[in-house]
Amino acid sequence: MAVKNTETGEVHKGYKGGETGCGFDTSASHWVSSNERITCDKDGCKN
Ligand SMILES: [Zn+2]
Repeated sequence: MAVKNTETGEVHKGYKGGETGCGFDTSASHWVSSNERITCDKDGCKN
């Protein structure tokens, strides 16, 4: 499952309304659920 920050275009591991793998809170409106490939390279998001 992936979640996208529509302000930066970056795709993180996680889901809308929770937290990204790297620790961002995704409850804000600029986070949307996504099926895109994860582009974040921080620990917790990258595989
Ligand atoms: Zn991330």
